[in-house]
Amino acid sequence: MPFLELQNLQKTYPDGTRAVRGIDLQVDKGEFIVLLGPSGCGKTTTLRMIAGLEDPTGGQITLDNQNVTHLPPSQRDIGFVFQFYALYPHMTVQKNIAFPLENIGTSPADIEAALNRVARALGVEALLDQYPRQLSGGDQQRVSLARAMVRTPDIYLMDEPLGTLDAEHRLELRAFIRRQQLSLSITAIYVTHDQEEAMSLADRIVVMDGGKIRQIGSPSEIYNHPADLFVANFVGSPGMNLLNGQLVQHGDSLTFTRPDSDIHIPIHANIAPMRSVLTQRHEDTKTQSSMASKQVVLGMRPEFIRPANRGIPGDVILSEYQGSHGYVHIDTPIGELVMRSTDRFAIGEKIHLHLNETHIRLFDPDTGTALA
Ligand code: ATP
Repeated sequence: MPFLELQNLQKTYPDGTRAVRGIDLQVDKGEFIVLLGPSGCGKTTTLRMIAGLEDPTGGQITLDNQNVTHLPPSQRDIGFVFQFYALYPHMTVQKNIAFPLENIGTSPADIEAALNRVARALGVEALLDQYPRQLSGGDQQRVSLARAMVRTPDIYLMDEPLGTLDAEHRLELRAFIRRQQLSLSITAIYVTHDQEEAMSLADRIVVMDGGKIRQIGSPSEIYNHPADLFVANFVGSPGMNLLNGQLVQHGDSLTFTRPDSDIHIPIHANIAPMRSVLTQRHEDTKTQSSMASKQVVLGMRPEFIRPANRGIPGDVILSEYQGSHGYVHIDTPIGELVMRSTDRFAIGEKIHLHLNETHIRLFDPDTGTALA
């Protein structure tokens, strides 16, 4: 039995906006789930329904074996961390952190133990006697997290808790949250539109778009085996290279090509399951045999392309330097490709490219879904 289960969960706002269009998700105890997707895809609405702050217009939410779909927030044991969690300005850091426990009548000894634990974990021990106005933005958010984590609710819901921080503090707190997760095995649903954050924090990522789930999987499944073109493009910075072309069968082998080019990229796919998708039949005048083909989109991550002595010819059109590595844009006869590289290339330089065939992904251009 999953600890949290969403079944066909829906939310249509009174103005007719269909923010969440029927999502199904099962979360185990101790799992850290990240809802990832572009602005407006329904992440916050989903989180607020789990918290009880929005009433679902369809479907069911089960938490720890209890149907909580229409229960008020006070009847769910949930810790909510917002993007900006306002601290009480007239209270010291210590008072702010202890407040949620004092509120529920925890004994002074238990409060002190919990306060020490969380203050040490978040590195705010030296700030305990200060007031919020004396703290930097990063420290304020650290105290906010300490206040949320001083309790141990059944589940934490976090809505872009690092959204307002500068890059340095984001990285620092991200690492902290992950360490907490690994040491305490907290159950959490974390919302972000930052795919790097999602990849580094999540046990499983739920990619959302237009109020629906596109894919649920571990960061590596999502990155290496995107379920569709949306995920392939949205996850990764830059996203996957996506080339339109034809998958062609010659006897027992498959190649990717474009009608206007003589480049044939071997595809190492098991041909048996591919036969059903190779629906277009042609006569090959050279070999006098019949060929099958299908329009496809070929996907390839930039790090699986490398310069080679021979292969796909191309001209460097842009070189983006990013310190430890860079991204090189190359115009080739099969379309523009972006390669990750630690070498620098001059604009206009002529190079050849090798695509690592084991990392080629194929998608159906009509449905967008990945092919077997
Ligand atoms: P963001 O990352 O920008 O917060 P999100 O993925 O969290 O986006 P939601 O905030 O859940 O998305 O919004 C989903 C859709 O529902 C959007 O089109 C939004 O404009 C709409 N929406 C959100 N709240 C309301 C509301 N109270 N009334 C009407 N529409 C709403």
